[in-house]
Amino acid sequence: MSKEKKKTEQFEFQSEVKQLLDILVYSLYKHKEVFLRELVSNAVDALNKVQFQLLTDSDLDEKDRELKINIEFDKKKNKLIIEDSGIGMTKEEIVGNIGTIAHSGTVDFLKKVSEAKEESQVDMIGKFGVGFYSSFMVADEIHLYTKSYKKGSTGLVWKSTGTKDYTIEETDKKERGTRIELILKKDEKEFTEDYTIKNILSKHSKFIPFDIFVGKDKIESSPAIWTQPKSSLKKEDYDNLYKFIENSQEEPETYIHLSSDAPVQFNSILFIPKTSFEKIGLFKATPGVDIYSRKVLIQKESKDIMPEYLRFVKGVIDSEDIPLNISREDVQNNVIIDKIRKNVLKKIFTHLNDLKKKDWDKYLKIWENFMRNFKEGITSDFENKDKIASLLLFNSSVKDKNELIDLNTYIENMEKDQKEIYYITGMDLNSLEQNPALEIFKKKNLNVLYLTDPIDEIVIDHLREFEGKQFKIVSSADLKLDKDDKKEEDKDLKKDSDNFAGYLKTIYGDKVADVKISERLVDSPCILVNQSEGPSVQMEKMMKMMNKEYAYAKRVFEINKNNILIKELIRIHKKDPASKEVKSLSNQLLDNMMLREGVIDNIDSIIPQIQDIMLKASKNM
Ligand code: ADP
Repeated sequence: MSKEKKKTEQFEFQSEVKQLLDILVYSLYKHKEVFLRELVSNAVDALNKVQFQLLTDSDLDEKDRELKINIEFDKKKNKLIIEDSGIGMTKEEIVGNIGTIAHSGTVDFLKKVSEAKEESQVDMIGKFGVGFYSSFMVADEIHLYTKSYKKGSTGLVWKSTGTKDYTIEETDKKERGTRIELILKKDEKEFTEDYTIKNILSKHSKFIPFDIFVGKDKIESSPAIWTQPKSSLKKEDYDNLYKFIENSQEEPETYIHLSSDAPVQFNSILFIPKTSFEKIGLFKATPGVDIYSRKVLIQKESKDIMPEYLRFVKGVIDSEDIPLNISREDVQNNVIIDKIRKNVLKKIFTHLNDLKKKDWDKYLKIWENFMRNFKEGITSDFENKDKIASLLLFNSSVKDKNELIDLNTYIENMEKDQKEIYYITGMDLNSLEQNPALEIFKKKNLNVLYLTDPIDEIVIDHLREFEGKQFKIVSSADLKLDKDDKKEEDKDLKKDSDNFAGYLKTIYGDKVADVKISERLVDSPCILVNQSEGPSVQMEKMMKMMNKEYAYAKRVFEINKNNILIKELIRIHKKDPASKEVKSLSNQLLDNMMLREGVIDNIDSIIPQIQDIMLKASKNM
């Protein structure tokens, strides 16, 4: 900091700001006009804030001053001026707000944007907001005059050429608010054209709840459409509101317009976007529902009105029952807000469910974008988990494995005596399809849900049941399926196989919880299954990833006494209970199963064992 003139202070930009300026000026120059949208939106914020202060504090200066935005040009000096009668800034606020970047990820984000395809750039910039600095894309120099609404504030002017520093000095600005003068670059003269400015505003500023003047002309606006009757609105009106709120070129995937008089009065328009930036991996969505009271914005992007998992929902909730001076803590605990939230959530879930029935393709898109949010909801919103559950979609065994079904469809198509909802977990659909645990289900034509997302099992764990039907993992040891085609049991075979199972148990020792004769296998020789309440292998693998010391739960080894290999082993074992061959083959059977499940710790010991078996086999050839 050094003093040039009296009362003129010079400040360096934060290094992030310098980087940001570089990227803006050199990479995003194609979308220059966004600067106007950003400046107008800052002015609107400032007006919203002062409007809020006026309603809650009767002791303010300039109480009767009109809340508006003026845009003017000075063609000779190549200047564009945007002025608001908003909240203004103190010196500390200028330094804190304009000299630094609030979002820590801004620079990283902008780098990504500058590398993205050109069409998606505009939308990304819009959603994140590049803010005030974008003006340096068109201006050589910016002078920002401001005076805070706070009593006793002095007028200040901030000046910068957007390179490395800025100055602040006192000025004789008398009225509250901010006036931004852009001294435009030589080849940006178009922004001193009335027509150009009006054209940009018509795209971005239709829903602004304050008057905007370009020169003497007032810009037409249609704010607060959520208070109008649905019948008077067209899809286009909703689309435009969404584009305005989201600074986006894209239409929403779907919208919901709600009006209620009892038990609480509120109007709301909510949107579900077409894109999920979270899914693309760009950044975590921030909450997107604004709270209004009688058309006055009282909390922008409220963190408290919607549950966290619905952060992708955008829009407006306006209620005259919400007190204007409500604080953040009060929003969390307010009874009215609570009632509104309950009502709104119910409507969102009903809307999505209807969409699922009426417009499957649209629903699928929403599902693909926001499934993670729904699943998060089931694990965090106890009250609504069952409603969210009917939004879930799964791959399953009776259909083409790539086709998705919901739980309602699953239940509608259950077999007559089927009492449970069967599921299986695994890494991918192809390996799930090969799982021997499915054999009996395929034979009986029972549908099994395929769970491939690691969070699915946690979700099922939270649900436990759906419409009175319990979830049951098909690899559970206590799975009871009605026996069919009961042939006369071969008593000898039963005795011999029981003996063999007993033998396996002695040689496996504590590597397994038990050895049993399987009722679920049709073709395969054997399988490892979970103990009745034990975690699935998928779940255990996750635990192992988090904690190397984690020891896998012991599982039950089942053999298929009708399988030819098992039959052979039973035969030899009966002849020679001490057979070394049977022992080594039996050990290999267990290792094979552990390999298939991916739960073996010491793969190296298996290979010599297999080679030994191969050697013996080749000697008999
Ligand atoms: P953002 O609007 O995303 O916060 P900006 O860089 O556009 O980022 O603005 C930074 C901050 O500067 C704003 O959050 C606000 O506090 C302040 N600011 C900008 N323009 C104005 C204005 N016209 N009146 C009052 N404060 C403003």
